[in-house]
Amino acid sequence: MQNASDRINRLSESQTIAMAKRGRELQAEGKDIISLSLGEPDFHTPDRIKQAAKKAIDDNFTSYTPVSGYLELREAISKKFKRDNDLDYSANQIVTSTGAKQSIANVVLSIVNPGDEVILPTPYWVSYVEIIKMAEGIPVFVDATIESDFKITAEQLNSAITEKTKMMIFSSPCNPTGSIYGKAELEALANVISTKKDLYVISDEIYEHINFGGKHESLAQFSSVYDQVITINGVSKGFAMTGWRLGYIGAPEWIAKACDKIQGQFTSATCSITQRAVIEAMDMDPSETYHMRDAFKQRRDYVISRLQRMDGVIINKPEGAFYVFPNIGKLLGRKHSKGKIETATDLCLYLLEFAEVALVTGEAFGSPECIRISYATSLTVLEDAMNRIEKALNQLH
Ligand code: PMP
Ligand code: GLU
Repeated sequence: MQNASDRINRLSESQTIAMAKRGRELQAEGKDIISLSLGEPDFHTPDRIKQAAKKAIDDNFTSYTPVSGYLELREAISKKFKRDNDLDYSANQIVTSTGAKQSIANVVLSIVNPGDEVILPTPYWVSYVEIIKMAEGIPVFVDATIESDFKITAEQLNSAITEKTKMMIFSSPCNPTGSIYGKAELEALANVISTKKDLYVISDEIYEHINFGGKHESLAQFSSVYDQVITINGVSKGFAMTGWRLGYIGAPEWIAKACDKIQGQFTSATCSITQRAVIEAMDMDPSETYHMRDAFKQRRDYVISRLQRMDGVIINKPEGAFYVFPNIGKLLGRKHSKGKIETATDLCLYLLEFAEVALVTGEAFGSPECIRISYATSLTVLEDAMNRIEKALNQLH
């Protein structure tokens, strides 16, 4: 980009957003594209929450709010943390932002100095690595593969830590793999993290409510690391509120203060009407959202059953979120009428052109042998998409 800063030239475009954009462009050209690229629930926001927003407008909640969010909202989030996660975060340890994405950027910019190392269990969510680069941190990748259910071990974490390590960022349930760390696995990681007291961990729990296996476990529950953990959450996924833009952190107070300071210069608080609506969401019993979770589980089972039967595709059984992340390594090297599949990106481009299905390449998440399929759409659409993918893969030789 002419005359742009080095910072912007170093930055990559978000591949999830880029693929969704490409899908929309092709749709506008009249192509019948099925987009399984963006991680976005296909449900509508629950009525209770929408009513609260309408009331907020009528009650004139239309002015600037405190940067971290209304006290009443932070108190509602504080109660949610206690009720769902048994975590003690008081209102002054909570900062709400325009989405979990901004919450993560606030935290990274608050803690990471140029040259600091940030551990990223791989596959990682696309934006982590770019946010780290913006803070001039150095990403350190710790590989997890489909054989280990895409989870890293405490030993792997231990060997990745150096004197320069300042942070680690991970998500559970995970985007892009859907994997979930159980309590014992988190405890093992906590035992390593607690040995380095100036290591801070972003635990991204935005898919908390989309968990098919059982109870959600938070890293901050282990008292040995409570002062080192920043718990990230938000309403985009669990409450089908991607467009409303609200994410939040629970963190040690000094980190909350730092985030408030950054946000006070960048964006100020998120939308006042959204904030009033989210008070309602936080008061809801999580079971009121379980119909969405149950639908996602049914779709996961369907997609897995179809992928299992496709030649060259290896698939595990993720316990949460709404993604599957099959390994397609065996398809690399195969040919089609217009060329050869050398990379996961080639495969995604092939499927976009020949099957008219938009997916995201694993390269965007640090796993060049995988592809990400978002199954946050109806079973009818998924069936059509799986038929098309199967047919296109069968045409490779
Ligand atoms: N973290 C993860 C793991 C995500 O998948 C997303 C999805 N966009 C986000 C954070 C950001 O969510 P939000 O819409 O709240 O910015
Ligand atoms: N988190 C979603 C995804 O991974 C939404 C897109 C984005 O924010 O990057 O597809």
